[in-house]
Amino acid sequence: MNIQSTEQIPISGIAELLKLQRAFFDSGKTRDISFRISQIKKLHELVNSHQQALMDALQKDLHKPAYESLMTELGPFYSEVRHFIRHIRDWSLPETVATSLFNTPGSSQIIREPYGNVMVIAPWNYPFLLTFSPLLGAMAAGNCVILKPSEHAPHTSAVMAHIINKHFDSSYIHLIEGGIEETQALLAERWDYIFFTGGPEIGKIIYQSAAQHLTPVTLELGGKSPCIVHKDANLKLAAKRIAWGKWINSGQTCLAPDYLFVHEDVKNTFVQQIKEAIHAHYGSNPLQSQDYGKIINRRHYERLKSYLTNGNIIEGGNYDDEHLRIEPTIIENPATDSPVMQEEIFGPILPLYTYSNLEDVLTFIRQREKPLAAYLFSRSSSVQKTFLQQTSSGGVTINDTVLHISSSEMPFGGVGKSGIGGYHGKYSFDTFSHKKAVLHRSVQPLDNLLRFPPYSMSRLKIMKELLKRFL
Ligand code: NAD
Repeated sequence: MNIQSTEQIPISGIAELLKLQRAFFDSGKTRDISFRISQIKKLHELVNSHQQALMDALQKDLHKPAYESLMTELGPFYSEVRHFIRHIRDWSLPETVATSLFNTPGSSQIIREPYGNVMVIAPWNYPFLLTFSPLLGAMAAGNCVILKPSEHAPHTSAVMAHIINKHFDSSYIHLIEGGIEETQALLAERWDYIFFTGGPEIGKIIYQSAAQHLTPVTLELGGKSPCIVHKDANLKLAAKRIAWGKWINSGQTCLAPDYLFVHEDVKNTFVQQIKEAIHAHYGSNPLQSQDYGKIINRRHYERLKSYLTNGNIIEGGNYDDEHLRIEPTIIENPATDSPVMQEEIFGPILPLYTYSNLEDVLTFIRQREKPLAAYLFSRSSSVQKTFLQQTSSGGVTINDTVLHISSSEMPFGGVGKSGIGGYHGKYSFDTFSHKKAVLHRSVQPLDNLLRFPPYSMSRLKIMKELLKRFL
């Protein structure tokens, strides 16, 4: 199927589109849980019927192998759909909580209400999943949505535009393709919620725009995610799992291990094992491998190539200017103030350092911005505990890489410079819902006698005594 971009509303129509979406939201249609479920099922069917078109588009944008597209983009989407459909009704029920003595008689509830009109801005590295996964959360919570995928993955963007703009009422969901100009036009409008995935620098622009209207945001950002291989790790397994997490999608994964610290006692064996893992995965010439991706565009390709001079190459280092591919590459001991250690790498180059004292590594990590993920390979529960207590990151996988993102039961998001907020499963539903506190007071005239003025001295004494006893 050759899909072209479809029926997009132009920049000049954005204000009118938003007006229509507000009217749709105000009609109350999205408050109906059955409507939400039916629309999610419809989206699921559409994705299913466009699966091949999506995989072809991902292949064109990122040289993403079909298998990887299923495993890391479509599969997680299908799994979230199932989870949402199973749980939306429960998540939507008012949550009854205890009522304080002061408010008795009465009852207290938390009601999750949709924010209203939501914008989702997505990046290019997992261009389908990072657009449609937040979309699911926004739909499940009962919002109207405008999607803005990345201009750097145009083929995937076109298929998503076709899926959305041809099949959904634009007053409910619409997708705007385009680049900075389109995003800025969208940001000029007032939103009830903005969900952004991308780099921290653009994240700041989004946050500033949102602040004009005090719009709440989720910012799913990136950073330099460290990975430690301790001396007691299962080295073969660690090598295989790090090679997978680092070089899937050619390293263009927000939570890929960014740099490695390997204990000096096991360094030589580990390096041998990770070289073997690379070649087991991608053959003797990864640049020819059908299972290995390409760099998204020439700008990022040139940026990544420039890192190759920042350290001593001990594996890989070859590249293909025509097809924008760089081999899985390990560089040893780059200066910590060199670009490869100052910027998020977001590509197939892996700096490697050795250490003798774990405390030094933990201090190194703590002295830098809080990363999106952190990884430790060690069999020791006390080393694991120390690592968890002494580092802060959006999430952690122990003895593997990347996989904590795959759970619908845990929030995925950053902390500090790697982001604000989290999503997946119930956390997505909550992200896109305002939690409204509702107190129902009894209509019986049983008011606390100490509540109303005038406040005499004797009542002041009683109040002090009560506060001492009960608070
Ligand atoms: P990008 O360049 O595609 O930008 C993301 C979005 O911002 C796009 O839709 C783009 O149109 C828009 N944009 C770009 N410049 C803009 C501007 N000046 N004003 C307004 N909008 C603008 O993607 P990127 O930022 O290069 O993505 C890579 C980054 O995303 C990495 O830092 C990576 O770690 C991070 N990331 C994070 C996650 C996560 O889930 N936390 C996932 C994937 C990627």
